[in-house]
Amino acid sequence: DASILWFRRDLRLGDNPALAGALAGATHLVPLYIHSPTEDHPWSPGAASRWWLHHSLAALDRRLTGLGSRLILAQGEDSLQVLQKVIAATGARRVHWNRLHEPTSVARDRHIEQALRSSGSECFGTNGNLLFEPGEILTAQKGPYRVFSAYWRRAIAQLPPTPIIPIPSQLPPLPPELTGLDLSTLRLQPRIRWDTGLADAWTPGEEGAWRAARDFLDRRLVQYVEGRDRPDHRGTSRLSPHLHFGEISPRQLLGALLERGIDLDREPAASFLRELGWREFAHHLLAFFPQTPETPLDRRFAAFPWCHDDGTRLHAWQQGRTGIPLVDAGLRELWTTGWMHNRVRMVAASFLTKNLRLPWQLGARWFWDTLVDADLANNTLGWQWVAGCGADAAPFFRIFNPIRQGERFDPSGDYVRRWCPELARLPDTYIHRPWMAPRELLSQADLELGRDYPRPIVDLTTSRAAALAAWSAIKDAG
Ligand code: FAD
Repeated sequence: DASILWFRRDLRLGDNPALAGALAGATHLVPLYIHSPTEDHPWSPGAASRWWLHHSLAALDRRLTGLGSRLILAQGEDSLQVLQKVIAATGARRVHWNRLHEPTSVARDRHIEQALRSSGSECFGTNGNLLFEPGEILTAQKGPYRVFSAYWRRAIAQLPPTPIIPIPSQLPPLPPELTGLDLSTLRLQPRIRWDTGLADAWTPGEEGAWRAARDFLDRRLVQYVEGRDRPDHRGTSRLSPHLHFGEISPRQLLGALLERGIDLDREPAASFLRELGWREFAHHLLAFFPQTPETPLDRRFAAFPWCHDDGTRLHAWQQGRTGIPLVDAGLRELWTTGWMHNRVRMVAASFLTKNLRLPWQLGARWFWDTLVDADLANNTLGWQWVAGCGADAAPFFRIFNPIRQGERFDPSGDYVRRWCPELARLPDTYIHRPWMAPRELLSQADLELGRDYPRPIVDLTTSRAAALAAWSAIKDAG
């Protein structure tokens, strides 16, 4: 009996329930990946995600080869057709996958399941990527939670059991004469080589995920509570792209904490788990409010008076040339490494949506294309949270002051100096507000504003007041 293991965003062999299911009683196994970006339209993977995917698939193929198998790659506009072809070629009767929760994936998988069932194949979907799937944690009235703290209080009381499913020691062979595409034909790699910063920063794949997890759990977790807000230190796990692509599962992280004898109810583990909880909550919200990647959950924002921009201001933000050092450092970190520290994501998003008063969807799109961890659920939640229009969002009037945020979370300016080297010689006092520095200091620092580094493209005080006025105009609407 041959079975198909359809890999999607679960690019690992450890704790993979779909793999475990596919192995049961199988004489042959087809580990399959189908590249069908059009099916994810309008959220087909962006450039940074495609880069990651390329390397993660290569890593998965190496792991499978080590166990006597190989990754079969296919490409098409319609995953169903690809699956039908593989079924016809191999006689496989079973297809196993780990469920995805984005609305388009859910609809596609339902359609595939129906079609394959009616032609005599069986499909098995399992939960491989979340602690709790959408619908598992509901209010007493069986409705969705909209407030994180209440959601998480209920969820944390029923964490799933560990231990987790081990990596098999060997895999059944591929059915004879089955061939797949070469990885290069998927064209996931950029044509122009802008990816050296990504390659320096990351090791995609299951082994890279575990290296990051161990480094974090054994060295950095102790400092997580204080360190997680500091972009100038490596205080967080940097597991987000690994989690997004399913190279490591949240259940495995839970298991790794327990294995180390760490108490989950106390700090620092409680804070780290809470962040994983936000990821769970984001998937829960997206499933219940599928329109939110494009539309604000708070309907009042449909009438929000955004500023008109001919593209100049958005471009300055994207390029890290707004003249606000913390914002610019964040956007340059993003462009170079495909990642941005969470604190800086919040500040950069607040600056775009409130000081520049540009629609959050423009920022979400830019992140989508440039983040290696771009994730529809987390990105939507993050942007709607900052813009003040999501479930359990920050109130609109909480506008981050990037100078104060910089002074508090990057006090000696190391983060800004790293990403905006033209400011490196400024003293700490002015590193987050170079336009306020006296002329002599600027010349001592070899810095001419407007030439070496932009002056602020908006005034922080007046733009803040304008944002609050715009908010007043809609806040009392029905
Ligand atoms: P850690 O602090 O080590 O947290 C561990 C894990 O918890 C993360 O890997 C991530 O999976 C999850 N997590 C942490 N914070 C959040 C959060 N606020 N919401 C949801 N999950 C969280 N995260 C993404 O994974 N993809 C995105 O596309 C994304 N877009 C964002 C956009 C904005 C505007 C904002 C404010 C946040 C966004 N985030 C996104 C959330 C957060 O910034 C990243 O998950 C985090 O910075 C990843 O770094 P880490 O792995 O070191 O986090």
